[in-house]
Amino acid sequence: MRVATVTTQLSSQFTAARTQAHTAYVRQAIAPATQPDDVIAQTVSNLLQSLSAVWKLHWETEHKDTLWRLAVNGVQGAGGASICFRKPCPCGSSLTHHQVRLNHSHLHRLHSFWDCPVAQAVREQLQQQLGMTQLSRQAVWLLQPPAEHINTGVWQVVCTAAISAMDVGRRSMWSAYHATGTTATGTAIPAVTQAARTAVQSFWQILIQFADRPVIPAGHAWLGLGTAHPFLATRQQDGDRDQDTSPLVVQLPPALALDVL
Ligand SMILES: [Zn+2]
Repeated sequence: MRVATVTTQLSSQFTAARTQAHTAYVRQAIAPATQPDDVIAQTVSNLLQSLSAVWKLHWETEHKDTLWRLAVNGVQGAGGASICFRKPCPCGSSLTHHQVRLNHSHLHRLHSFWDCPVAQAVREQLQQQLGMTQLSRQAVWLLQPPAEHINTGVWQVVCTAAISAMDVGRRSMWSAYHATGTTATGTAIPAVTQAARTAVQSFWQILIQFADRPVIPAGHAWLGLGTAHPFLATRQQDGDRDQDTSPLVVQLPPALALDVL
């Protein structure tokens, strides 16, 4: 077989596997709701457009990386490489016997990036900024603005930062677990609380780093960003700022302002 033919076959196999992974991600994001295959395919297409928009942003790759991996269930230690853990998360949560039998690695993805208290701490930050009591997984995982007044560009950055911060917190929790060997039934509860705090601080620090730029990102998604927008807003009295001052400001919660700066 010619090299070009093999390359084409491998490339199409890779593309098919990636599409399959993105489809599974979308289905898990909207669960327990379901949608027909054509709607799911359109949602995958929309997700890829959002991922592409984020990728084009002038922003450190390390902040985008976790979302890219999450979307193909490739986060190491959170279901990545189809590895299923049978031991409990340090937060104390463990799979049921039924779930262990299923051996579905995406259950770990769901826990680490949604249900774990560390991920929930980041979700609460989003809800507080939005003034919402509930925020859907679909909105966060698929980068879909949860309300009409939320700027699409800002929301894409917020979700990318939130997912990255959840992973920072998750890894810090496991590091503390391996260092002490304790679980949530012992002295590790403060470690889980500390990991949640680390995740929240990381989320805001990522946004602060993002906002430190000379211009607002180009593109339709960023149009119309006002001075009162949650998370990231335009700076007031823009005409008075000097060239070194960013046109973006981060809307830090007052209780956190001193912690993360
Ligand atoms: Zn957990």
